[in-house]
Amino acid sequence: MNNWKIETKAVQGGYTPKNSEPRILPIYQSTTYKYDSAEHVAKLFDLEIEGHMYSRISNPTVEAFEKKIAALEGGVGALATSSGQAATTLAILNICKSGEHIVAASTLYGGTFSLFSNTLKKLGIEVSFVNPEASIDDIKKHFKDNTKAIFGETIGNPGLNILDFEKFSSIAKEMGVPLIVDNTFATPYLCKPLEHGANIVVHSATKYIDGHASSVGGIIIDGGNFNWNNGKYPDLVNPDPSYHGVKYVEQFGKQAYIVKARAQLLRDFGATLSPFNAFLMNMGLETLHLRMERHSENALKLAKFLEKHPKVAWVNYPGLSNHKSYSLANKYLSKGCSGVLTFGIKGGKQAGIKFIDSVKLAALVVHVADVRTSVIHPASTTHRQLTKEQQISSGVTEDLIRVSVGIENIEDIIADFDQALNA
Ligand SMILES: *Cc1c(COP(=O)(O)O)cnc(C)c1O
Repeated sequence: MNNWKIETKAVQGGYTPKNSEPRILPIYQSTTYKYDSAEHVAKLFDLEIEGHMYSRISNPTVEAFEKKIAALEGGVGALATSSGQAATTLAILNICKSGEHIVAASTLYGGTFSLFSNTLKKLGIEVSFVNPEASIDDIKKHFKDNTKAIFGETIGNPGLNILDFEKFSSIAKEMGVPLIVDNTFATPYLCKPLEHGANIVVHSATKYIDGHASSVGGIIIDGGNFNWNNGKYPDLVNPDPSYHGVKYVEQFGKQAYIVKARAQLLRDFGATLSPFNAFLMNMGLETLHLRMERHSENALKLAKFLEKHPKVAWVNYPGLSNHKSYSLANKYLSKGCSGVLTFGIKGGKQAGIKFIDSVKLAALVVHVADVRTSVIHPASTTHRQLTKEQQISSGVTEDLIRVSVGIENIEDIIADFDQALNA
């Protein structure tokens, strides 16, 4: 499987049936596993042998999904979670505790921003937000002795700026902390952050991985390419009293981080993905390469159409040559820039509301990244509680429409946008 190309891994990775076993990944809808001896269970609990104990911690269907994603991203292991928010939360808490600190690009998904600026703060973890376009020296100024990670998104949501992996990974290396990347919008088909110096990857699997808007889930992938024994991460090196003194780095080597996340955090917080959702997400992944190709192709065509439309003030899509991230997009997203774009409609808020009410093929939903084209006008919906100043600082202008371009026929999508803009 390791030599397979990404399309083959997407279709066949993670699950290899033996003689006369089901061809399709089965749903192991079982909380519990049966053993022949007490000794076997004791070894499982001591992490001496691999196997399933209880489905809060692992399950065969979920495990197959984890193995497929790990193979697609090129990691050494993965941990599925109940949502993307849970993935980000556990990815941080696995290496950062009260009294410690992380640095994050300011261009983040709203849920991640509120997790970082409110909830982690209440847990005693401080986050410094940096402008991702700042110089290496300016970003380094935000690091402290207790800084444990640097975080960014491959494609920022909703700004659609592309992460400068070379810059961020060189800072991470120099400062001795891992680079954690949210790769939700790109997916491993369009970009593999681990190949560009990231150490940990997180996803909201709710988006393109599932791809059909059927289930909420998340995943953490361990690159196995960070030296945790550098003096900053004693919890990965010293004995864990909650697991009979297991030493993660010594016992699990390259997989230390992801084993610890499961053994401690999934056990204690219980943010577990259900086997049924893992089954649906695995099925979604079987067409990831085809969908991402079409999402990207359709989004670029729609962006080019909107650019020329007299009712459109501006278009933001990293695949357009006038986009500020265009050269980074060419470098890191050579297969396409995914399916999300934003544009400004002439006539501001009222025109935005009128447009949303006039589309027929595209639907108004508070979601992105599934096969159906959808639109939202943040100023009158998701961001309506904010003041005008807050809206502007979060990048949401009154004329902004966010589009998640689906995989329908592009001529139908364009015709729908044209009639709604002219309404
Ligand atoms: C949706 C999203 C999340 C949160 O994921 P959930 O599955 O909704 O919890 C995190 N990051 C990005 C970039 C997202 O789009």
